[in-house]
Amino acid sequence: FIKVNQVKKSFKLGRGQVQVLHGIDASFEKGELVSILGESGSGKSTLMNILGGMDRDYQGDVSVDGESLSTMSESQLDDYRKARIGFIFQSFNLISHLTVLDNVLVTMEMTKLTREERTRRATDILTDIGLGDHLHKRPNQLSGGQKQRVAIARALSNDPDIILADEPTGALDQENSEQIMDLLESIAKRGKLVITVTHSEKVAARSTRVITMADGRVIDVTQKQVAYEHTSETTQVASKSLN
Ligand code: ATP
Ligand code: MG
Repeated sequence: FIKVNQVKKSFKLGRGQVQVLHGIDASFEKGELVSILGESGSGKSTLMNILGGMDRDYQGDVSVDGESLSTMSESQLDDYRKARIGFIFQSFNLISHLTVLDNVLVTMEMTKLTREERTRRATDILTDIGLGDHLHKRPNQLSGGQKQRVAIARALSNDPDIILADEPTGALDQENSEQIMDLLESIAKRGKLVITVTHSEKVAARSTRVITMADGRVIDVTQKQVAYEHTSETTQVASKSLN
């Protein structure tokens, strides 16, 4: 589904360059929950940004369904980012002056749905994720775990095939982390690809595959179980159709 072939990345540093990815090869299938482990500075976020189409300044190739990201036009890449990718950040990235519901609605402005349909879909997603009683609160009235769930609802709002989560549980306590992992696991079980960066062995233990990076290289891949079957109980949150 996603193929990463010899991806190399350098950043400019002063007059020189520093190479932070040294030829990454990987492939990902739908239904997988993949954890990326590795020390700080090993290149995890850099790789996630490339997979998410947010950074196109690299060498090598990333293809999705056989289509190379590097040959896409800016507008195709923009569609890819908006329609196919849901990104979850450690810092939640919520808009503080908007309510929970509006935080999700602003991510859906591109869709063809009417305002009413969007509101219904956003409300459904938030309710499924356990925030039905908090729709009209602002982020600063929520706990960390609740904020992270809003971030996940935002990532799911356009029904993407791919969820990229960069340390989604980094700011959470254990109980909240486990709830977030339950959610990510259920998303993968609905046939989505979920790739999550983590520092937590507990999170890694819940994954179908663990990729360990060091110094811009993949140093270990541990397959724990095959990807989840894409079953027909996929009708909840993530796959409520946009069409
Ligand atoms: P962490 O676990 O701390 O989030 P990471 O594995 O996500 O670390 P990256 O953020 O991918 O690491 O960074 C990899 C390397 O690239 C680091 O050495 C970092 O200093 C460098 N780097 C990242 N972004 C830039 C940038 N914009 N300019 C220059 N160097 C950068
Ligand atoms: Mg990082």
